[in-house]
Amino acid sequence: MSPSRKTFATRATSFALLAMTREDIRDAVVIGAGVSGAADLLTLSFTNMERVALLERHTGAGMENSHPLYNAQTSHDGSTETNYDIPHALEVKADAELLRALLKKVNDPQLWQKRMRMALALGEEQVQRLAARYEALKEHYPLSFVTDRAEIEKIEPKLVLGRDPSEKIAILVSKDGFIVNYMLLAQRMISLALSRKPGFEVCYNTEVAGVERIAIEGVDGPLYLVKTKKRQFVTRAIFCAAGTYSLDYAQSMGYGTNLGAVMLGGSFLSAGNQVRGKVYPMQEEGLSFAEMHIDPDILDMRDSRVGPTIEFCLWMRARMLRTFPDFVRINLRSPWRMLKSTISILFANKLLAFVALHLSYRIPILGKWLVLRKAQRIIPTLRYRDLTWRRNAGGIRPQIVDLSTKKLIMGSVTITGEENGEPLIYNSTPSPGASISVANGVRDVETMLRVLDGRYVFDKTSFLRSIGIDCSIAPAPSDEKAA
Ligand SMILES: Cc1cc2nc3c(=O)[nH]c(=O)nc-3n(C[C@H](O)[C@H](O)[C@H](O)COP(=O)(O)OP(=O)(O)OC[C@H]3O[C@@H](n4cnc5c(N)ncnc54)[C@H](O)[C@@H]3O)c2cc1C
Repeated sequence: MSPSRKTFATRATSFALLAMTREDIRDAVVIGAGVSGAADLLTLSFTNMERVALLERHTGAGMENSHPLYNAQTSHDGSTETNYDIPHALEVKADAELLRALLKKVNDPQLWQKRMRMALALGEEQVQRLAARYEALKEHYPLSFVTDRAEIEKIEPKLVLGRDPSEKIAILVSKDGFIVNYMLLAQRMISLALSRKPGFEVCYNTEVAGVERIAIEGVDGPLYLVKTKKRQFVTRAIFCAAGTYSLDYAQSMGYGTNLGAVMLGGSFLSAGNQVRGKVYPMQEEGLSFAEMHIDPDILDMRDSRVGPTIEFCLWMRARMLRTFPDFVRINLRSPWRMLKSTISILFANKLLAFVALHLSYRIPILGKWLVLRKAQRIIPTLRYRDLTWRRNAGGIRPQIVDLSTKKLIMGSVTITGEENGEPLIYNSTPSPGASISVANGVRDVETMLRVLDGRYVFDKTSFLRSIGIDCSIAPAPSDEKAA
């Protein structure tokens, strides 16, 4: 991955830049104040960087995919995610622990609540598959595998009510289920960072229009000019946590050109008070997103949500059709490879039927009826009138495609300029991006400091202690992963 010539070093000639002193140069700029950018900022507050700016186009933090209306509010840890294979489940578990440690430091029911999380198996084949999964995972998670109907009814009554008594059912239950408002988490991480480093600057209403490589006489190292309508920022390093746009920004600097992205929207319905915990149906292993499930809403725990649906979008921001040209621009970078990859992905894993079904959910009346049929596999007594489409709910997952293998990549993808000695990091974060955001923050900062070669230090021990992880007793999850 080498930078394209077009974007290579531009001389700093503007008056603003000539007037710039060394003190005006930022140690780092973070683009995007979702949960990922906020986690980067929090982690940076445990380094000796003093001049850091967080730039966000909205009026506050967490207003796109990290918003509780936009995502499924789950802290994924791999235990009941039947679409993850075992190694991926354990990888997510290690990363999820950092987020959970941070959550446990804050006793705020609006931020998070603990509820049971379960996978529901229906019929002999699914029950056997779930039993095998339980055997493989039981030593790693606090799980129970329940096949007795009366027991299941005690845990989640509506799974049993009205169900055909001859249907075989089982649940794999994790007591360690967290429902999280990731927008509030982003806000809290930013406050924590600012309380440690009052010199950090958080600029809302500040949309980044572009980034250029620059050189300023007498200043060593690569430098970058981050352009916004209001101001320009010169920085030594960039953390890009711009959600669906991260890959676009990486490619504009010449990175990630072997990748593409499909934008998968997801809508939700309200179903009234149905479930106590999060209930997932069994899924195809290898699917990179969670199937429609039912769970309580952190914004009103008496309301259960059904969703998210999986909708192919031709735009970059939820319900903003005016971002269609951005979608086209990104896909025009490798149009044939992207087309071939999309077709190949659709025909693999029976995705075509899956996508067609999810598209039909949008047909008036019939669509809701089809959702009902699917949701009734979880709650047989659910009725058509219980369901209401939620307005302005559901974000977009930037699902990254490897254009060489023509396959969807599971989970979040990080592109760095490390190979070229460039302090640039770009995070594309479909699910479970929010669940692993704190671990990603640690990894991003460690990567960046490696690239910046000794200029800065990260007090990881203090960071981990601050979220309640004592490194003298157990290695931190990210250490385990690196080992
Ligand atoms: C339907 C759905 C369900 C999901 N469910 C889950 C779940 O249950 N659990 C889970 O862990 N994850 C889930 N996810 C994924 C999760 O929502 C994301 O991983 C997470 O919110 C990503 O956070 P982020 O900070 O990377 O991106 P975002 O929250 O989207 O933040 C990106 C920010 O960058 C800003 N930005 C972009 N471009 C610019 C620019 N040029 N200038 C300034 N600012 C810019 C945006 O305004 C935005 O605030 C789900 C996603 C969807 C869509």
